[in-house]
Amino acid sequence: MRHVRGPLLTIDLTERTATTEPLAEDTAAFVGGRGLNTRLAYDRIPFDVDPLGPANRVFLSTGPMQYSRTSYTGRMAATTVSPLTNGICSSNAGGFLSRNVVGAGYGAVEIVGESDELLAVHVREIDADGSPTVEFEPVPDLVDAAVSAVSDRFADTHGLAAEHVACIGPAGENEVRFASVMTSDTRAFGRGGIGAVFGAKNLKAITFDGDGVAQRATGSRTSSGDTEPPIDIEWPDDAEDVHREAATSDSIMKRQGTASVTELANEVDALPSYYFSETSFEGVAGISGDRVEEKKYKKGTCSQCAFACKLPTRDEESGVETEGPEFETVMAFGSNAGIDDIVDVMRSNELCDELGMDTISCGDVVSMYLESVDEFGNAELVHSLVERIAHREGVGDELAEGVHRAHEAFGAADWTVKGMPFSGHDGRTLNGQGLGFATANRGADHMYGEFYPYEYPLVGTDEALDPSGLEGKPPKLVAKENRNAVLDSAVICKFSRGTVTDERLAALLDADYEDLLALGGRIVELERAFNNARGFDRDDDTLPYEIDGFEAALSEYYAIRGWNDDGTVPGYGEGGIAGVADD
Ligand code: SF4
Repeated sequence: MRHVRGPLLTIDLTERTATTEPLAEDTAAFVGGRGLNTRLAYDRIPFDVDPLGPANRVFLSTGPMQYSRTSYTGRMAATTVSPLTNGICSSNAGGFLSRNVVGAGYGAVEIVGESDELLAVHVREIDADGSPTVEFEPVPDLVDAAVSAVSDRFADTHGLAAEHVACIGPAGENEVRFASVMTSDTRAFGRGGIGAVFGAKNLKAITFDGDGVAQRATGSRTSSGDTEPPIDIEWPDDAEDVHREAATSDSIMKRQGTASVTELANEVDALPSYYFSETSFEGVAGISGDRVEEKKYKKGTCSQCAFACKLPTRDEESGVETEGPEFETVMAFGSNAGIDDIVDVMRSNELCDELGMDTISCGDVVSMYLESVDEFGNAELVHSLVERIAHREGVGDELAEGVHRAHEAFGAADWTVKGMPFSGHDGRTLNGQGLGFATANRGADHMYGEFYPYEYPLVGTDEALDPSGLEGKPPKLVAKENRNAVLDSAVICKFSRGTVTDERLAALLDADYEDLLALGGRIVELERAFNNARGFDRDDDTLPYEIDGFEAALSEYYAIRGWNDDGTVPGYGEGGIAGVADD
């Protein structure tokens, strides 16, 4: 089975030291990305850690597919203990950072400790003898700096592009619990508040610079004009086939991104609206995929990806310019807030990117507030709230704690699972997705189990499922969660659905498909065991609404995974759990 190359780089912010060590064989067997990060986190983060304390750690890694020339592979995973959910959480961001991490020569990066002043860390290409070259730069000039200002600063002082930078905005510095880490200016490690962990560590930015390895990986030209041979991996023809199909696909996502599903979600009653009090929105025409496409002014993509589904958008009249909004942002800042003008949603998206916040969690908590003051549809108030949240000003300070911690003070319902605010694809209609929201180790997020494509359906008729009811769905959800854990480790974008088939996935990773699913299961189980050790159990796998047959389906899900009926992994919290997971 393929896995990432290069050592683990550990950056100690307290001591301002950088060290490397080879990845142990049983650790590297977790491939890369989320799998590798999870294994490292399980071994190295104390179970009782304070998410915003110095003992919490952040792991960054991309996957072995970044060494190929294949589409869908330009993404990265970041893993930490979330200040939003209090459990382990992996976030995934696109953009171009992945190729610069590979270019610097590392398999994974670990960030530990905390600085006593705001710091940037610059990682350069690893020396031939394996020594790291890392600069620790105090950046008092970047206090309260917005994301694009951070990129501009490192362009001026270090000659770096935004794609070399992962940074926080003011929201991260202020430890907003759903602050994101941004890269390539507009791509977010969004879910779970990893930006607040950076902020608590006084880490404004980490940059990666070094393209020797990347050039060898892609066979591209060096600055001297020579063409370096690719890293010594022989890729199957499937890699080229995937790339060609990504380039020639006529998918609507290439024009509208995930916003292409907005009207369908509305038609089938799966579009949360007015802070989840409704499941369709009468103003959907104003925030549809067509409206987004009208504002798109050029193509956008991630490293190596010919599918190019990203959405650089601009509104000439207002001057708003952003990337997106994707479907989830359209839901959180559009229908859920009672907003029916795509330009207003674009402005919310632009603000969240610049200030460094997850658009879903921020949009949901803003919608909650709008409900409490009976101001749905008030775009001016929305934009003002986004700024106040990022700076923790006035009511923004309470809202910066997120829906789960703030809802009681506003007399609102708690629309979260494990403290994670809901994304779209409403589980009250798409019942299998609802079960997936409950079981996901990172909480109410659609991409963890990603069951909704079966239920709209967005897949072929042979795979489509009746959205109503849960009968027969737990085994399929387990398989999908496991497959997604593999994709997050490879790292392969989930929008490769239909192109990266099971057979191709096995060929690309040089593995048996069943072995891959088993690995995915071990990753999910390690996350679960970590969370169990922090007190999570069945009582955390709950929904704020009822689905017929939910409790029986949940028990079936646990039984398939070999877990206890209380939602715990046998032997969790004991030293042998990694071995248990290997069984
Ligand atoms: S499909 Fe879209 S999100 Fe996925 S890697 Fe390609 S451009 Fe990025």
